[in-house]
Amino acid sequence: MNKQQDYVLRTIDEREIKFIRLWFTDVLGSLKSIALAPAEVEGAFNEGVGFDGSSIEGLTRRSEADMLLHPDPSTFQVLPWRDVDATARMFCDLSTPDGQPAVSDPRRVLRRALDHAANLGFTFYIHPEIEFYVLKSRHPGVNGLEAIDNAGYFDNVAGGTTHDLRRRAVRLLEDLGISVEFSHHEGGPGQNEIDLRYADALATADNIMTFRSVVKEVAFEQDCFATFMPKPRWDWPGSGMHTHMSLFEGDTNAFYEAGAPHQLSRTGKHFIAGLLKHAREITAVTNQTVNSYKRLWGGDEAPSYVCWGHNNSSALVRVPTYKPNKGGSARVEYRALDSAANPYLAYAVLLEAGLRGIEHEYEIPDEIDGDLRDLSERERRVLGYEPLPTSLDEALAAMEESELVAEVLGEQLYSFFLDNKHNEWRQYRAQVTEFELRSGLTQF
Ligand code: GLN
Ligand code: MG
Ligand code: MG
Ligand code: MG
Repeated sequence: MNKQQDYVLRTIDEREIKFIRLWFTDVLGSLKSIALAPAEVEGAFNEGVGFDGSSIEGLTRRSEADMLLHPDPSTFQVLPWRDVDATARMFCDLSTPDGQPAVSDPRRVLRRALDHAANLGFTFYIHPEIEFYVLKSRHPGVNGLEAIDNAGYFDNVAGGTTHDLRRRAVRLLEDLGISVEFSHHEGGPGQNEIDLRYADALATADNIMTFRSVVKEVAFEQDCFATFMPKPRWDWPGSGMHTHMSLFEGDTNAFYEAGAPHQLSRTGKHFIAGLLKHAREITAVTNQTVNSYKRLWGGDEAPSYVCWGHNNSSALVRVPTYKPNKGGSARVEYRALDSAANPYLAYAVLLEAGLRGIEHEYEIPDEIDGDLRDLSERERRVLGYEPLPTSLDEALAAMEESELVAEVLGEQLYSFFLDNKHNEWRQYRAQVTEFELRSGLTQF
């Protein structure tokens, strides 16, 4: 029993915790939970907790259904929204019954990428901007979605529900040890954004899983519904999850170089070059649903082309300006990610794309100046700006060709992901949409 495990057992005792939820994430990024009795926790630390993984998306092949959950004591937190029957949670790593790390565990995929970064001397930090919609009613249904308010970007809504909702969510997150940097109303009606403070990538991915639960719980409390779907309505802006990234070597921000253009170091430039070069092939992971592409190609500040810029909201990769003498906050922002991504897998592919750029010293292309959306299709082609995939189908085709994504996800997870998503695309392709009916039913 190590110190952290001891601390967990003592806390369970002292705070009379009745249930300990073991949390893990399936390949598609859904949170899974098994509740454990307090008496079982010591055994869980020592031997893991067995469960049948066969009906969980992508976790096992049919022939190897049994899995073990190993709770990570550093993630122990009491869930602050449970008033009766005190409940806590821990995130878990997964293994096979003989103790081998499970190849399909998204948390493990990210750990492996972080180990690679550590071997090169880097720690990887992330600050996510998470956007979501709040809809009227606990059960919004799918027709005629109604937002909770009619406000817009940064609006301060007097007596508004979203105000209370954000405040309550932020309080609960802080209780869970998750620091929030700021929160505000976003551009769409009922759309909100909450930004988490910088943390290492594994903690941030765990925090995002927790965040989604907290926001959904809080919305329920107020008789509404929160959705992280990338584009719930064609005429509303999408919900992105812009991702600010930096690499540190010890205490030094490796992206910072005083006096360089945008204070961007060589390492930073190579990292950006890696992101751009591999952008198309990682998009199925960063934007994993059919609906994701409605956001990417729906305008409203979502990026559609592979390019980088400085303070330019049409760019896929943006180098934000930071305060003078704040070299530690040097970072690059990747703007394609949406709020439905599996953060473990998305961070792993982003990190590895950037690391390739560093390891192979990719040259950074020229930055764009001006807004790409003001150019014509032909001008963009002549200038060499590649479009991001325009559909899940196209993104999957790029992923099929990707040696990088295959390596980062590992063979089993890679092929499960492709099969699952091809299936989603086939089902979608077979639909007859309202658009077709409106434009075709009476005309033909
Ligand atoms: N909602 C936009 C997106 O989908 C971002 C808007 C913003 O943060 N300024 O990326
Ligand atoms: Mg923001
Ligand atoms: Mg935003
Ligand atoms: Mg942003």
